[in-house]
Amino acid sequence: MQDNADLLALVRTIPDFPKPGIQFRDITTLIHNGWGLRTAIDRMATASAPYQPTLVAGIEARGFIFGAGIAHQLGLGFVPVRKSKKLPGAVIGIDYELEYGVDRLEIHNDVLGPDDRVLIIDDLIATGGTATATVNLIRMAGAKVSAACFLVDLPDLGGTDRLRAQEVPVETLLVFE
Ligand code: IMP
Repeated sequence: MQDNADLLALVRTIPDFPKPGIQFRDITTLIHNGWGLRTAIDRMATASAPYQPTLVAGIEARGFIFGAGIAHQLGLGFVPVRKSKKLPGAVIGIDYELEYGVDRLEIHNDVLGPDDRVLIIDDLIATGGTATATVNLIRMAGAKVSAACFLVDLPDLGGTDRLRAQEVPVETLLVFE
Protein backbone atom coordinates (compact mmCIF):
# COMPACT_ATOMS: atom_id res chain seq x y z
CA MET A 1 0.00 0.00 0.00
CA GLN A 2 1.18 3.50 -0.83
CA ASP A 3 2.41 5.69 2.01
CA ASN A 4 0.34 8.86 1.77
CA ALA A 5 2.00 10.64 4.71
CA ASP A 6 3.10 13.39 2.29
CA LEU A 7 -0.53 14.18 1.43
CA LEU A 8 -1.80 13.69 4.98
CA ALA A 9 0.54 16.45 6.15
CA LEU A 10 -1.28 18.92 3.87
CA VAL A 11 -4.69 18.45 5.56
CA ARG A 12 -5.31 20.99 8.32
CA THR A 13 -7.37 20.21 11.42
CA ILE A 14 -9.63 22.98 12.74
CA PRO A 15 -10.97 22.32 16.23
CA ASP A 16 -14.57 23.13 17.15
CA PHE A 17 -15.83 23.65 13.57
CA PRO A 18 -18.69 23.81 12.68
CA LYS A 19 -19.58 23.27 16.34
CA PRO A 20 -17.82 22.59 19.64
CA GLY A 21 -16.18 19.17 19.91
CA ILE A 22 -15.82 18.55 16.14
CA GLN A 23 -12.30 18.22 14.70
CA PHE A 24 -12.86 19.45 11.15
CA ARG A 25 -10.43 17.99 8.60
CA ASP A 26 -9.88 20.88 6.20
CA ILE A 27 -8.69 19.89 2.72
CA THR A 28 -8.47 23.50 1.42
CA THR A 29 -4.82 23.53 2.53
CA LEU A 30 -4.14 20.43 0.41
CA ILE A 31 -5.83 21.82 -2.72
CA HIS A 32 -4.04 25.16 -2.26
CA ASN A 33 -0.80 23.25 -2.89
CA GLY A 34 -0.34 22.46 -6.60
CA TRP A 35 1.54 19.26 -5.94
CA GLY A 36 -1.05 18.24 -3.33
CA LEU A 37 -4.06 18.77 -5.61
CA ARG A 38 -2.46 16.96 -8.55
CA THR A 39 -1.15 14.07 -6.44
CA ALA A 40 -4.43 13.53 -4.59
CA ILE A 41 -6.32 13.36 -7.91
CA ASP A 42 -3.68 11.12 -9.52
CA ARG A 43 -3.70 8.65 -6.61
CA MET A 44 -7.51 8.62 -6.32
CA ALA A 45 -7.75 7.97 -10.08
CA THR A 46 -5.16 5.18 -9.88
CA ALA A 47 -7.01 3.53 -6.96
CA SER A 48 -10.37 3.79 -8.79
CA ALA A 49 -9.39 2.74 -12.33
CA PRO A 50 -9.40 -1.05 -11.65
CA TYR A 51 -13.15 -0.89 -10.90
CA GLN A 52 -13.67 0.08 -14.55
CA PRO A 53 -16.21 2.87 -14.04
CA THR A 54 -18.00 4.40 -17.02
CA LEU A 55 -18.93 7.68 -15.27
CA VAL A 56 -17.82 9.70 -12.23
CA ALA A 57 -20.38 11.13 -9.76
CA GLY A 58 -19.04 13.88 -7.50
CA ILE A 59 -20.92 14.93 -4.36
CA GLU A 60 -21.50 18.67 -3.80
CA ALA A 61 -19.36 20.57 -3.12
CA ARG A 62 -15.84 19.25 -2.44
CA GLY A 63 -16.57 16.07 -4.39
CA PHE A 64 -16.71 18.27 -7.50
CA ILE A 65 -13.09 19.37 -7.05
CA PHE A 66 -11.68 15.84 -6.93
CA GLY A 67 -14.35 14.18 -9.06
CA ALA A 68 -13.84 16.44 -12.08
CA GLY A 69 -10.07 15.86 -11.95
CA ILE A 70 -10.51 12.09 -11.66
CA ALA A 71 -13.03 12.08 -14.55
CA HIS A 72 -10.51 14.03 -16.65
CA GLN A 73 -7.75 11.61 -15.70
CA LEU A 74 -9.82 8.52 -16.58
CA GLY A 75 -11.37 10.06 -19.71
CA LEU A 76 -14.90 9.74 -18.29
CA GLY A 77 -17.94 12.01 -18.03
CA PHE A 78 -18.95 13.69 -14.77
CA VAL A 79 -22.33 13.71 -12.98
CA PRO A 80 -22.85 16.37 -10.30
CA VAL A 81 -24.76 15.06 -7.27
CA ARG A 82 -26.32 18.28 -5.97
CA LYS A 83 -28.19 19.59 -3.00
CA SER A 84 -31.92 20.22 -3.42
CA LYS A 85 -33.18 22.62 -6.12
CA LYS A 86 -29.81 23.44 -7.70
CA LEU A 87 -30.13 21.49 -10.97
CA PRO A 88 -32.10 23.17 -13.78
CA GLY A 89 -33.57 20.10 -15.49
CA ALA A 90 -35.94 17.35 -14.33
CA VAL A 91 -34.38 15.46 -11.41
CA ILE A 92 -34.64 12.37 -9.28
CA GLY A 93 -33.82 12.88 -5.63
CA ILE A 94 -33.43 11.16 -2.30
CA ASP A 95 -33.95 12.43 1.24
CA TYR A 96 -31.53 11.27 3.92
CA GLU A 97 -31.16 11.73 7.65
CA LEU A 98 -28.62 14.09 9.16
CA GLU A 99 -27.74 14.24 12.85
CA TYR A 100 -30.36 16.98 13.14
CA GLY A 101 -32.96 16.93 10.39
CA VAL A 102 -33.12 15.79 6.79
CA ASP A 103 -31.21 16.73 3.62
CA ARG A 104 -31.76 15.92 -0.04
CA LEU A 105 -29.50 15.00 -2.97
CA GLU A 106 -30.52 15.16 -6.62
CA ILE A 107 -29.25 14.24 -10.10
CA HIS A 108 -30.72 14.96 -13.51
CA ASN A 109 -33.14 12.15 -14.39
CA ASP A 110 -31.63 11.46 -17.82
CA VAL A 111 -27.93 10.98 -17.02
CA LEU A 112 -27.79 7.36 -15.80
CA GLY A 113 -28.93 4.08 -17.32
CA PRO A 114 -28.51 0.33 -16.89
CA ASP A 115 -25.16 0.23 -18.73
CA ASP A 116 -23.51 2.75 -16.41
CA ARG A 117 -21.01 1.75 -13.71
CA VAL A 118 -20.67 4.84 -11.55
CA LEU A 119 -17.65 5.82 -9.46
CA ILE A 120 -18.70 7.94 -6.43
CA ILE A 121 -16.24 10.61 -5.31
CA ASP A 122 -16.17 12.87 -2.24
CA ASP A 123 -13.46 14.54 -0.19
CA LEU A 124 -14.28 12.72 3.04
CA ILE A 125 -16.40 9.92 4.49
CA ALA A 126 -17.54 10.13 8.10
CA THR A 127 -20.79 8.31 9.05
CA GLY A 128 -21.36 7.39 5.41
CA GLY A 129 -24.85 8.92 5.39
CA THR A 130 -24.14 11.15 2.39
CA ALA A 131 -22.40 8.40 0.42
CA THR A 132 -25.10 5.82 1.22
CA ALA A 133 -27.79 8.21 -0.03
CA THR A 134 -25.74 8.66 -3.22
CA VAL A 135 -25.50 4.87 -3.70
CA ASN A 136 -29.27 4.58 -3.27
CA LEU A 137 -29.88 7.46 -5.70
CA ILE A 138 -27.65 5.89 -8.39
CA ARG A 139 -29.37 2.51 -7.95
CA MET A 140 -32.82 4.17 -8.05
CA ALA A 141 -31.77 5.66 -11.40
CA GLY A 142 -31.14 2.11 -12.67
CA ALA A 143 -27.33 2.27 -12.81
CA LYS A 144 -24.67 0.25 -10.99
CA VAL A 145 -22.17 1.59 -8.46
CA SER A 146 -18.68 0.42 -9.46
CA ALA A 147 -16.88 1.80 -6.39
CA ALA A 148 -16.57 4.82 -4.09
CA CYS A 149 -13.34 6.71 -3.46
CA PHE A 150 -12.68 9.31 -0.77
CA LEU A 151 -9.56 11.33 -0.06
CA VAL A 152 -10.13 11.16 3.73
CA ASP A 153 -11.62 8.42 5.93
CA LEU A 154 -12.72 8.90 9.55
CA PRO A 155 -13.01 5.14 10.32
CA ASP A 156 -14.26 5.60 13.88
CA LEU A 157 -17.54 6.91 12.41
CA GLY A 158 -18.12 3.69 10.45
CA GLY A 159 -18.89 5.07 6.97
CA THR A 160 -16.67 2.74 4.97
CA ASP A 161 -18.07 -0.32 6.80
CA ARG A 162 -21.58 0.93 6.06
CA LEU A 163 -20.83 1.24 2.33
CA ARG A 164 -19.09 -2.14 2.12
CA ALA A 165 -22.16 -3.72 3.77
CA GLN A 166 -24.07 -2.54 0.69
CA GLU A 167 -21.55 -4.26 -1.57
CA VAL A 168 -19.81 -1.08 -2.64
CA PRO A 169 -16.01 -1.39 -2.97
CA VAL A 170 -14.38 1.52 -1.11
CA GLU A 171 -10.97 3.17 -1.57
CA THR A 172 -9.57 5.85 0.75
CA LEU A 173 -6.16 7.53 0.77
CA LEU A 174 -5.83 9.28 4.14
CA VAL A 175 -7.03 8.00 7.50
CA PHE A 176 -7.61 10.08 10.65
CA GLU A 177 -8.14 7.72 13.61
P1 IMP B 1 -21.06 11.69 6.36
O1 IMP B 1 -22.32 11.78 5.58
O2 IMP B 1 -21.27 11.66 7.86
O3 IMP B 1 -20.16 10.56 5.89
O4 IMP B 1 -20.26 13.04 6.13
C1 IMP B 1 -19.55 13.25 4.95
C2 IMP B 1 -19.92 14.55 4.31
O5 IMP B 1 -19.77 15.62 5.22
C3 IMP B 1 -18.99 14.82 3.15
O6 IMP B 1 -19.71 15.43 2.08
C4 IMP B 1 -17.95 15.74 3.71
O7 IMP B 1 -17.52 16.71 2.78
C5 IMP B 1 -18.62 16.39 4.93
N1 IMP B 1 -17.76 16.35 6.14
C6 IMP B 1 -18.02 15.76 7.33
N2 IMP B 1 -17.01 15.93 8.21
C7 IMP B 1 -16.06 16.63 7.54
C8 IMP B 1 -14.73 17.09 7.91
O8 IMP B 1 -14.18 16.90 9.01
N3 IMP B 1 -14.05 17.76 6.93
C9 IMP B 1 -14.58 17.97 5.69
N4 IMP B 1 -15.81 17.56 5.34
C10 IMP B 1 -16.55 16.90 6.24
